[in-house]
Amino acid sequence: MSECLFCKIANGEIPAKLTFDDDRVTAFEDINPQAPVHIVIIPNKHIPTILDLSHEDQELVGYMHMVANQIAIEKSLAENGFRLVTNCKKSAGQTVFHLHIHLLGGRDFLWPPG
Ligand code: 5GP
Ligand code: ZN
Repeated sequence: MSECLFCKIANGEIPAKLTFDDDRVTAFEDINPQAPVHIVIIPNKHIPTILDLSHEDQELVGYMHMVANQIAIEKSLAENGFRLVTNCKKSAGQTVFHLHIHLLGGRDFLWPPG
């Protein structure tokens, strides 16, 4: 049994407010939202960081972005726009070592990021 928090959310062991799920990808509301819309999109497969992608994951990563687009449209973010973020390891502040995309929207964001 995996000890990974996001694996447990993907397999239903730990509850989350799901936005989307199928056999490849799960999306859920972040427990500590940083914007009016803050959804976390994960592969159901355990991949610790984006550095751990293998060639066979290329289609999966593309599909995660298609899911992000679909959620952004459903959350009425398409007109004003939104931000997708993947933190990788210490300098970026990654805290959960299961690959994920943050979908942030519903407000304006600064650039460069902090
Ligand atoms: P990271 O810091 O690794 O880029 O992002 C991890 C995210 O997971 C954080 O935004 C954090 O709020 C969120 N998170 C951590 N634990 C849980 C949890 O148990 N449930 C949900 N829904 N989100 C979580
Ligand atoms: Zn995992």
